[in-house]
Amino acid sequence: MPAGAQCPAEHPPQAVFPGVTRIMAQVKLEHVGKIYPGNVRAVKDFNLTIEDGEFMVMVGPSGCGKSTTLRMVAGLEEISEGTITIGDRVVNNVLPKDRDIAMVFQNYALYPDKTVYENMAFCLKMRKFQDPNAAPGSNGLFSWWKLRKMKKAEINRRVMEAAEILGIEELLERRPKALSGGQRQRVAVGRCIVRNPKVFLFDEPLSNLDAKMRVQMRTEISRLHNRLQTTMIYVTHDQTEAMTMGDRIVVMKDGLIQQVATPANLYDYPDNIFVAGFIGTPPMNFFDAIVESKDGQLFITEDSFSLVTPPEWKPKIERYIGKKVVFGVRPEHIGSPTAEAVDNAPKITATVEVIEPMGSETYLYMKAGANGFIARVDPHRTCNVGDSIDLAVMMRGAHLFDVDTTERIT
Ligand code: ADP
Repeated sequence: MPAGAQCPAEHPPQAVFPGVTRIMAQVKLEHVGKIYPGNVRAVKDFNLTIEDGEFMVMVGPSGCGKSTTLRMVAGLEEISEGTITIGDRVVNNVLPKDRDIAMVFQNYALYPDKTVYENMAFCLKMRKFQDPNAAPGSNGLFSWWKLRKMKKAEINRRVMEAAEILGIEELLERRPKALSGGQRQRVAVGRCIVRNPKVFLFDEPLSNLDAKMRVQMRTEISRLHNRLQTTMIYVTHDQTEAMTMGDRIVVMKDGLIQQVATPANLYDYPDNIFVAGFIGTPPMNFFDAIVESKDGQLFITEDSFSLVTPPEWKPKIERYIGKKVVFGVRPEHIGSPTAEAVDNAPKITATVEVIEPMGSETYLYMKAGANGFIARVDPHRTCNVGDSIDLAVMMRGAHLFDVDTTERIT
């Protein structure tokens, strides 16, 4: 299991197909860069090792270089700088078809005139495989002697098992136009499974599905990963998808890696303001503030509030006394039952602008001076629009960021 993986595998990896063992593969990107014509630097000095069996999600806003990175791993885009290694082989100059990867695209790319069964069987029929039973020897020129077409019975077995894994046995005779979006996506995934690749690549595979189906497919792909334990790299712009699926997440912006961490660490310890604001919904609240020293204690002060800081912050924020900082605090750390339960928690007094009841919690859109912020409060808390209320701030869940570097101080 990769570090950070949360669930044990439902099935041992060998169970992909009987007699077919999962192929181990670490994927390594070293100083990888991509420069498109016109000197567009889409990816810059990208360094990342994706461990064998890991589910790695790349996330970031549109245009940050996620797809380009994935396509360089797939071999669909030339690498301008650096080295990509899959397993023990540098693949910079290896054709996509020889990289032993399988890619699921946003638009499924199924053959419209073939049935589901044929769509899944097609690549196995067309390709030649190394025959493990062929005579040893002959590398190089004569290695094609060892290649053979896959036997029909083996193709059938793989398609039927992939169909069973994905629960699409009933659909095998249908054509793509007679399938829902979710079913088509399952077939596209099935087409990858039958090949037993070293690495699965997913490029925004759920973007074309409605919200409900996206949630369902998210779980299915996670379950699939638990079962197959194959290395998977998954690109999305949706931070919820990233948080719910990834063993680890790479957050990107402007072609650069911002942070690589487990979902929990990204959320609790964002390296900079961008990651802090990108991960989490509703997003973290930010305030321009200064660090003040009063009576031996340090405060985070802004026009409408002054919050005493926890003593353990002192060594890290002392050098900021009198200077500007950015104070970041998530909605659940303002006015929530846990925040209100903290003894002597500092408070912000603010006016309620909008009340958004969600059932299990209520979001309050608040105004304190010139600042708007969101608080996640107990759904049974009574208040009205226009009320001025005190909200406890759980400082141990909050962060300070350096204004110039945007990096986290606390
Ligand atoms: P993402 O997947 O994060 O949305 P992309 O990898 O598609 O981002 O694009 C990264 C950057 O590279 C963008 O600025 C995009 O406009 C640019 N780009 C992508 N493909 C090409 C191309 N073929 N030619 C020139 N620029 C490109």
